[in-house]
Amino acid sequence: MSSRAVLRRCVSCRELFDRTQLWRVIRLAEGGMALDQGMGRSAYLCQTHCCLDDARRKKKLQRALRCQVADSIVEALEQRLTDGGASGSEAR
Ligand SMILES: [Zn+2]
Repeated sequence: MSSRAVLRRCVSCRELFDRTQLWRVIRLAEGGMALDQGMGRSAYLCQTHCCLDDARRKKKLQRALRCQVADSIVEALEQRLTDGGASGSEAR
């Protein structure tokens, strides 16, 4: 509990979380977008359907990053929820 947590704010719900619990979407300095790693302006998002949906509907990533965010970026995150969130027993 003594490790230094780096807090970041989710662009959707505006709550602060430990950085490791959030997705990071980066607008790369050299152009384009990346997830998790890269140099550039970053936006953080909770790893939940709720915040992802909200961010997509209200274009919060676009606002935070001040650029277009490709659907593929959001879809990649959705895919992670589908893959990792095995809370339901029905895997499709
Ligand atoms: Zn959130």
